[in-house]
Amino acid sequence: MALSPEQQAEIDALRASPSQTLRATAPGMERHLYSAHAVLDHGMVRVIDYMGDDAAICQAARVSYGKGTKSVQNDEGLIRYLMRHWHSTPFEMCEIKLHVKLPVFVARQWIRHRTANVNEYSARYSILDREFYIPAREHLAAQSTVNNQGRGEVLGDEEAARVLEILKADAGRAYDNYEAMISQDGQQGLARELARMNLPANIYTQWYWKVDLHNLFHFLRLRADPHAQYEIRVYAETIAAVVADWVPFAYKAFEDYRMGGATLSATALDCIRRMVKGETVTQENSGMSKGEWREFEGVLRG
Ligand SMILES: Cc1cc2nc3c(=O)[nH]c(=O)nc-3n(C[C@H](O)[C@H](O)[C@H](O)COP(=O)(O)OP(=O)(O)OC[C@H]3O[C@@H](n4cnc5c(N)ncnc54)[C@H](O)[C@@H]3O)c2cc1C
Repeated sequence: MALSPEQQAEIDALRASPSQTLRATAPGMERHLYSAHAVLDHGMVRVIDYMGDDAAICQAARVSYGKGTKSVQNDEGLIRYLMRHWHSTPFEMCEIKLHVKLPVFVARQWIRHRTANVNEYSARYSILDREFYIPAREHLAAQSTVNNQGRGEVLGDEEAARVLEILKADAGRAYDNYEAMISQDGQQGLARELARMNLPANIYTQWYWKVDLHNLFHFLRLRADPHAQYEIRVYAETIAAVVADWVPFAYKAFEDYRMGGATLSATALDCIRRMVKGETVTQENSGMSKGEWREFEGVLRG
């Protein structure tokens, strides 16, 4: 991702003009404000604004007049309790506003998370940049043979080179035609809102995305997960690192109970109880389907 000198100057100017505030600030987050974190080949994530910190979660949970902090240990314990018991509304008191630059096919997955506020760059109003996501060589993989919704073995050199050629040539040709259609040089020039329909899904778009911490954790649990597509996962991982600096107690609890934890059905719990008592439990006598049993074994193996 290369920011233009003008874009970098705007970011530097914002970072160079701090102002005093009575609002809660999180030192870890202040370090991230406005700075761009590169993602994929031309993408980025940057924090535009945020509200709240770990103490704000406790303050809301206690409906307190002051900071809501009895002690740091109390705060961490309370946050872990809230996370453990799905008491989610105190986490909704924290919010984050991000500026994200991402390929359109990633944006299509991202926008499914409805509990956020979005404002996207208008390709009716503005001309899109000639920026396309071209996967790094090691991310060009064949269709997975075990998971219909995923990729498997990395492509061989010759095939990968051919694929990269196709991706680059198609993107270049589509953009050349986009420019030719909107050009007003010796012609009327097609409206931007129509000309864009010819562009491929790996072109980059941008949006401001605002979400509360509870719904952001839900997004991260689904999209920072190994089952999520690599191209959205890298965005989720970048945001997760920011959140860890912003609300360290909440993030630790989230990692422990959600990312690192597992949800077990009553049948699975019963199997564990039987195993602890020394019984040999197999898929056949577990009461679970083959698929459920495979996932259950995965949880036990870690
Ligand atoms: C690995 C993976 C594969 C996927 N594959 C597909 C696919 O093949 N096809 C496809 O279409 N989608 C797919 N999705 C998208 C998925 O089905 C969800 O749309 C997406 O993850 C957003 O989740 P969400 O609805 O819980 O989030 P949000 O929209 O942020 O909602 C958060 C929560 O709010 C509540 N909520 C929000 N809106 C409503 C509502 N209108 N009514 C009731 N409750 C609501 C729900 O409890 C919801 O869980 C996939 C997602 C993942 C992570």
